[in-house]
Amino acid sequence: MNTPTDLLDQNKEWANRIKKEDPNFFKQLSKGQSPNYLWIGCADSRVPASQVIDLAPGDMFVHRNIANVIAHTDFNSLSVIQYAVAVLKVEHVIICGHYGCGGVKAAFDDQSHGLIDNWLRHIQDVGRLHSEELENLSEEDKLNRLCELNVAEQVRNLCQTPIVQNAWNNGQDLNVHGWIYSLAQGEIADLKLTASSNNDLS
Ligand SMILES: [Zn+2]
Repeated sequence: MNTPTDLLDQNKEWANRIKKEDPNFFKQLSKGQSPNYLWIGCADSRVPASQVIDLAPGDMFVHRNIANVIAHTDFNSLSVIQYAVAVLKVEHVIICGHYGCGGVKAAFDDQSHGLIDNWLRHIQDVGRLHSEELENLSEEDKLNRLCELNVAEQVRNLCQTPIVQNAWNNGQDLNVHGWIYSLAQGEIADLKLTASSNNDLS
């Protein structure tokens, strides 16, 4: 297990490695950011956003929470989305869930988890919306399908925010994608939910 001191040493090594390749990298980056992507993903330690798609610092704005939920009352995620869309003008928003998501699993295990149960309610709603499709699946298939359906619902939630609606109404080029990451493979699949206008929402 790495100690915090190890982490600080690793950080110095990392920074020095990058500066060796490009002495101006950090100096240039410190002047400002213009990422093309906003990533909304799960807080799970096994899905580190920039790392799994091999992007450098400055390439992607990131928001992560438990089970990659976009809730219409969550000012944290909505503030991130507004800044990314309205100010940074990212072209792509990626909502990336992952199979075997502990948050999705906890939403359906009939146990009490304390405060987090309020958050998990959003995912229980996804289960209720799709109960017919889910009822005949094995436990494992059900969890994995719920992880996919949760991404689909969050894509819809995101598209329905005034932030995305305003961007589309103003002719801004903004594409919302739904992806899912396999912990076992380290690979991402496109769930083919991309929405670039209200016409795509149906
Ligand atoms: Zn998760």
